[in-house]
Amino acid sequence: MKYLDEYRDSTLAEQLSQRIHKATKHNWTIMEVCGGQTHSILQYGLEDLLPETIELLHGPGCPVCVTPLELIDKAVAIASRQDVIFCSFGDMLRVPGSQNDLLGVKAQGFDVRIVYSPLDCLAIAKNNPDKQVVFFAVGFETTAPANAMSVRQAKTLGLGNFSILTSHVTVPPVITSILQSVDNRVQAFLGPGHVCSVMGWKQYEAISNHYKIPIVITGFEPTDLLEGILRCVLQLEAGEYKVENQYARAVEKEGNKVARTVVEEVFDVSDRMWRGLGSIPKSGYKLSYDYADFDAERIFQLETISAEEPAICISGQILRGLKKPHECPAFANMCTPETPLGATMVSSEGTCAAYYKYGRIGQTK
Ligand code: SF4
Repeated sequence: MKYLDEYRDSTLAEQLSQRIHKATKHNWTIMEVCGGQTHSILQYGLEDLLPETIELLHGPGCPVCVTPLELIDKAVAIASRQDVIFCSFGDMLRVPGSQNDLLGVKAQGFDVRIVYSPLDCLAIAKNNPDKQVVFFAVGFETTAPANAMSVRQAKTLGLGNFSILTSHVTVPPVITSILQSVDNRVQAFLGPGHVCSVMGWKQYEAISNHYKIPIVITGFEPTDLLEGILRCVLQLEAGEYKVENQYARAVEKEGNKVARTVVEEVFDVSDRMWRGLGSIPKSGYKLSYDYADFDAERIFQLETISAEEPAICISGQILRGLKKPHECPAFANMCTPETPLGATMVSSEGTCAAYYKYGRIGQTK
């Protein structure tokens, strides 16, 4: 297939659905890792094409969702300074902190700018030598290479007024954390297509072998997802476990070596806090020793800022596949996309937001 329409072809989707029905003999739970996959599953109603015996669990792969509340508060604190130009991708501006969001800071007259690449911030820093320019560097392995590149270039250019506020998380440790939990329900994973296009899928083999679990690296279009589910079911029914690559048009086993090299140069692996999930060992990146001068948390000394999520929010259980949005008492009443209380409602790719958007209020499956 060459064109986008072909990946949304209803006849092909129907054929894949029939093959899944035919192959499924037992009850299975399959988790899609990416928020983009969750969004597509709900947008195209793919669960309606599956047998009742297959339950899809929605995973922790929405970068905006899992950025800790505390980091939003730190971003707000930095952006609320007269000597700072704070730069971010647009989707972070509306994410509420404990007291305010970045859009609110901008409305108060502070210099908060939307950029489309962290490299744009370097030109801003060059043109504003009397200001500190800070980029909010969040996301999974997909955004890490460009963020690393911006820091490396800033060092090469000798830009002393550029830094990044880092909240990078990585997928394999959170998958491992889910599989290690005593109440784990996941029996197979649809692996993260975009993340693997950068990092490859080699590192998922050890997880698949250790936990004896099928992992199928999967794309984001309807037929991608149905084929990924079919491949999971075929492995599960056969009692097999291995990594398969459904998304071969974008993903190679070794990933993108150039991107991986710059990430490894600029970042060190570190423990990271995940909104809704808490701290997970070795689940993210921090700036390495050689690039520590570009760390906004160090420059602005934000250690005293901390925040706690509302007790009513069950997003941690949703991100682990233990509960669905309708099981949260706040869903669609106290908590909506306009008034999000927790991780899975703050971004349109979050599970609660996707259920809300696609009318799955009151859904019981
Ligand atoms: S509906 Fe809101 S409060 Fe409930 S789990 Fe989802 S994000 Fe948390």
